[in-house]
Amino acid sequence: MAAIKTIGVLTSGGDAPGMNAAIRAVTRSAIFNGFKVKGIYRGYKGLVDDEIVDLQTQSVSGIMHHGGTILKTARCKEFMTVEGRKQAYENMKKHDIDALVVIGGDGSLSGAQQFAKEFDIPIVGIPGTIDNDLSGTDHTIGYDTALNTIMWCVDRIRDTASSHERLFIIEVMGRESSFLALNGAIASGAEAAIIPEMASKVDQLSELIQSGFRKSKNSSIALVAESPVTGGAMGVAERVKKEFPQYNVRVTILGHLQRGGSPTAQDRILASRMGAAAIDALMEGQRNIMIGDDDEKMIYVPFSKAIRHTKTIDTELLDVLHRLSI
Ligand code: ADP
Repeated sequence: MAAIKTIGVLTSGGDAPGMNAAIRAVTRSAIFNGFKVKGIYRGYKGLVDDEIVDLQTQSVSGIMHHGGTILKTARCKEFMTVEGRKQAYENMKKHDIDALVVIGGDGSLSGAQQFAKEFDIPIVGIPGTIDNDLSGTDHTIGYDTALNTIMWCVDRIRDTASSHERLFIIEVMGRESSFLALNGAIASGAEAAIIPEMASKVDQLSELIQSGFRKSKNSSIALVAESPVTGGAMGVAERVKKEFPQYNVRVTILGHLQRGGSPTAQDRILASRMGAAAIDALMEGQRNIMIGDDDEKMIYVPFSKAIRHTKTIDTELLDVLHRLSI
């Protein structure tokens, strides 16, 4: 393998708070170790369209506390095609980029895996997504911030919910995984998390109505993971109106609120450590791996293990939520 001199860094897919801290860590750690760094704008789109700039130590000053990503992010259809990836490779060569650090979610790392395989490029991934849905890592960058945002919002909704004796259905993000709904419910003292993983096992709405709202509570809050399986908050509210018309139901969809904001200390530290670990990995000759955290330690997870797997929900968390919502 030819020696790596220049490392390219990009953020791709859905943005997540802490991506800037990761860009900063990759850039500074690479420069510290004698590499040149190039920033690629708009994820794979910038690689295909040749939007590539030099990054210096100062280029990443004062960005750590901002949500979003200074490199911007995008979804790129061209990169899904061989021709698009070939164009991306040509631009990498044009800018003398020998290796890539890709910060993104499941889709972005799937693209990285494909690109690395086709063009024999060393690529290291950093898990950046609020969903926490990548396997092989305890946490993804942005998840903790999103969880705190959800908690902050639900605390406020609780005030109005209890004043009016209402049932509030709050939709949170998470795609196919329900970490935000489940841990968000525990952190905010909600009565239930309605999640796709449990949909086939139990009627979660009936359970909520029977166990909490009807018996003793004057207000209830359920967090619902956005998913066709749960029907999202609107779907659940429709059911309440039909099946339990005596209850006063309200819906809040948190939506993109969950993506923004200044990253928490935990996300900044995770991003900083993962950025530094990505450069270590490249120096050790690693490729096609994602940086993960396992019991507080930085680990290398092969792309094949990290992506397109369902991270299972911890049943202990479900049990805790259930017990505490009586
Ligand atoms: P996320 O990384 O947040 O999961 P997406 O799923 O939208 O975001 O993926 C981001 C981008 O990664 C896509 O727009 C596409 O350019 C690239 N990508 C995703 N999957 C593949 C794939 N199988 N092959 C090539 N590129 C892919």
